[in-house]
Amino acid sequence: MHPPLINSYSAFLQRRFGRKVRKVAVDAGFSCPNRDGTISSGGCTFCSNHAFSPGRLELPHSVEDQVRLGIAKLSHMFPGSGWLVYFQSFTNTYSEPESLCEIYSQALNFDGVVGLAIGTRPDCLPDETLQVLERIADDYYVQLEIGLQSANDATLKAINRGHGTHEFIDATNRAKGRGFTLCAHMIVGLPGEGMDDYLKSAALISSLGYDIIKIHSFHLTQGSAMADAGFDESGFMTLDEYAEAAAAIIERLPPEMVVERVAGTAYADALIGPEWCSKPALVRSRIEACLKARNSWHGKLFAKDG
Ligand code: SF4
Repeated sequence: MHPPLINSYSAFLQRRFGRKVRKVAVDAGFSCPNRDGTISSGGCTFCSNHAFSPGRLELPHSVEDQVRLGIAKLSHMFPGSGWLVYFQSFTNTYSEPESLCEIYSQALNFDGVVGLAIGTRPDCLPDETLQVLERIADDYYVQLEIGLQSANDATLKAINRGHGTHEFIDATNRAKGRGFTLCAHMIVGLPGEGMDDYLKSAALISSLGYDIIKIHSFHLTQGSAMADAGFDESGFMTLDEYAEAAAAIIERLPPEMVVERVAGTAYADALIGPEWCSKPALVRSRIEACLKARNSWHGKLFAKDG
């Protein structure tokens, strides 16, 4: 009997809270310094937030109303569930600390809400913002999700990320020890990268002591700079190539690290490619098949000292 093929997020939440907990996504209307001209106005070249948040242009409700409506809708499908309010779109720490405190507070005052998940960039986490989150973490679960995408600075430059690995390491070290559950995002399949790059990104995340990893497959949606420039679709990984790479990453992760996501997903009607990105269950099962074929599993090849 070996450990699970993939140390799953749902099992982690079940252990942590003693019941099922699901995310309720909200859009607080944040911008991003890599899009509003502070760092750049073009954004990361793969980024098209409208593709995973197509209703944003209307933003009809306050955060409080979004949480209320989200819970009401999901409660029918998942009675008895707890809720993690997920600030997902754009850069969710990109505001003044007082304003952030007010926005996050709106999400917490509901029965069944156990905490927050907050997605952000490493260069948008000043100490004052970390202190706001630290106060919330005294009473609630706080999952801080920091995008690395690649540990290769040349790739980060090529995709106009607007920060390097240095900022990621610095933000991580300042966020540690404050009671957060730390989650890192990386992308597999960025143009110009190969297996060595993917393993290097995962190794950096592991070495920094992250609790959770999200592995996104590189994909493009309408409205991204790369898509607008006419990306050659032969540059997308095949599902088998991606599954092999993801399996190689997962078998080297620390056994206790949780894998929240094993693929990027996008609305099928906005997705340019690869088409398998709209089928997350298929991607997961292909990765599991790869691990089984190697007689491997999560953490089997983990080497503590790299
Ligand atoms: S991917 Fe994130 S950091 Fe990059 S431009 Fe889009 S919102 Fe900003």
